Amino acid sequence: TARRNTMAQAILSVPRSDRKIVVNTGLFINNEFVKSVDSQDLIQAINPATEDVLCSVSAASAKDIDVAVSAARKAFQTTWGKNVTGFERSKLINRLADLIERDQQELAELESLNNGKPVRIARDYDIGDTIQCLRYYAGWADKIVGQLIEVDNKTKVAFTRHDPIGVCGQIIPWNYPIGMWGWKVGPALATGCTIVMKPSEITPLTALKLSELVKEAGFPPGVVNTVPSLGHIGGAALAVHSDVDKVAFTGSTVTGRKIMESAAKSNLKKVSLELGGKSPHLIFESADLEQAANWAALGIFYNTGQDCTAGSRLYVQESIYDKFMTILMQKAKELVIADGFDENAAGGPVVSKTQFDRVWGYISSGISDGAKVVLGGEKRPAKGYWVDATIFTDIKPDMKIVREEIFGPVLAVGTFKTEQDAVNLANDTTYGLGAGLHSNDANQCMRVSSALEAGTVWINQYNLLNNNVPFGGKKQSGIGRELGSYALEEYTSVKAVHWNFGEKLDWPF
Ligand code: NAD
Repeated sequence: TARRNTMAQAILSVPRSDRKIVVNTGLFINNEFVKSVDSQDLIQAINPATEDVLCSVSAASAKDIDVAVSAARKAFQTTWGKNVTGFERSKLINRLADLIERDQQELAELESLNNGKPVRIARDYDIGDTIQCLRYYAGWADKIVGQLIEVDNKTKVAFTRHDPIGVCGQIIPWNYPIGMWGWKVGPALATGCTIVMKPSEITPLTALKLSELVKEAGFPPGVVNTVPSLGHIGGAALAVHSDVDKVAFTGSTVTGRKIMESAAKSNLKKVSLELGGKSPHLIFESADLEQAANWAALGIFYNTGQDCTAGSRLYVQESIYDKFMTILMQKAKELVIADGFDENAAGGPVVSKTQFDRVWGYISSGISDGAKVVLGGEKRPAKGYWVDATIFTDIKPDMKIVREEIFGPVLAVGTFKTEQDAVNLANDTTYGLGAGLHSNDANQCMRVSSALEAGTVWINQYNLLNNNVPFGGKKQSGIGRELGSYALEEYTSVKAVHWNFGEKLDWPF
């Protein structure tokens, strides 16, 4: 499907159409696509449905990260930061949202080619949501205000300013390449920060395409810079850079830990981390079982399970277990996992060979640990990184499939007798990202949602997020919050100004 191009552009064919997508394959710094200053390294973008190489893009070196950070610093000091009004920032962010909306179909096709997710889902959910996210933060850009604080009534006041924090390194994963881009870029631009964005080396293409739109929208050079790179090179260089004021990261807990260490070792930059999860999903006997099964299946199989909030541990009350499992199995069997350009696809392949091997490794470990596979568990004799919906029952708390994040469409199902058992099982994890419960007993909903240790709890639904509601983790699932007004705090630094308009200082004091 692809024509290799060693120059600065690649031309990709859109499957099942005669259209092409042109991708600039350089690094995007100062509103231009440029070559690395000192490296010939390339990153291959692969189509996970076919295993074909789509194209190669430049891989930023540590020196390129320096160049991008300098560009972002200069923009922060001259054309962005405190040099531009909130109204102007708002206008530009809205324009960017309009351009993404204009190119929604093409972006969805590119996202599908490189990530594997269905075009329909990329277009209507990932990108639809990104447009909304940018518009939400465009609305905030001129409403970032401090407080006036009375110190005494006659001589002194203080006020606070919510200053943009400065140059932000943003390191994003491959599961929602456009979605995570929007969550990071929206609040950073709204508050007046400048950005060095490092997309995942597995899915660099849509961040490069979005960079073209940043320029077209009219953002000054250096406000958004895009540097595809390997994590241990470009990501590590950003995390340890002493001229980066903040690093925002989404990815694995292992890498999050490294980023925090780098921040501690260098300039103590502000850090926000959105990490992994092993989220529990509880089905109580009073629940609407048909609906609960829909949400449980969506919770684990959406995005082929490559979701930080994936409801990967399902606990069902014993009294309804058999009935519920019959419905759940039926729902899971109805889901079509297919090529992203197949209109019936509800999910695509997993993103890479590494993930494919990782997920199948977990499936094997579940089998050898004695869990029972009641659905899936067999490889497809086909090219592509396919993992079909897989359900394990007869699980034990110390099995790897119960303790570790799999990041694939693999569900571990257990049972509980009492509400307290359910809460204990749910909280028996080092993670605390998401949790769900289904019950028609209002008091139970309140008790259980309050007892669950998670940054997000869903009641009688699962996995739905809103741009105006904060999102983030407890325990080892992360630090800080994205989305909503809470995200603005991650990108601002509060300055208190004390003002004396009358008190004389007696001397000696
Ligand atoms: P990862 O954490 O290694 O990668 C995420 C991002 O971090 C990428 O942009 C990567 O280049 C960068 N990175 C990697 N090493 C770095 C370093 N030393 N310093 C700075 N940046 C670095 O994740 P992965 O290897 O792609 O996936 C492994 C597992 O992580 C998955 O199986 C899944 O369990 C988890 N994961 C979670 C999320 C999430 O949304 N929370 C997303 C992707 C992966």
